[in-house]
Amino acid sequence: MRKNSNTKECHNECKTMLVDGLSLEEWIAKETYPRTVSLWGQEYHDFKPYLCETIIGDGLQLVCLETIDNRPHYWLIRIDSKTDVSSDDFDFEDILEPIEEECGSCEGVDECESCQENVEECVYPNNISWGGGHWGMVVNFGNGEVGS
Ligand SMILES: [Zn+2]
Repeated sequence: MRKNSNTKECHNECKTMLVDGLSLEEWIAKETYPRTVSLWGQEYHDFKPYLCETIIGDGLQLVCLETIDNRPHYWLIRIDSKTDVSSDDFDFEDILEPIEEECGSCEGVDECESCQENVEECVYPNNISWGGGHWGMVVNFGNGEVGS
């Protein structure tokens, strides 16, 4: 009983908590705001980072996943605040899978069914393709940490 009430308390606290002066809602608004990203000197304007509707665990940690194939585009997902994404034990499939399920993956026009059905190449955010990449914590409302 006591454990339950503590968990609830923390959850409410975390909801009203600020990290770097911003609430989780404000962090999400900031991180999904359209921006210019670049790769090899080419600029991509009005890129709006996609935040997955799927939430893992308490959802108090915001992480990003960038793939080599989709650079400079990336995806955002809310996961459990107790997950350490920089740990060797962390399995990136845990965040890749829900993104693929929600958005749809695309292996290129020759291999991809939805490309062929739609007679055009899948576009972000419905085109995640994993041939390697990286991921990282953006902000964690469980411990107040901010990613680099
Ligand atoms: Zn496709």
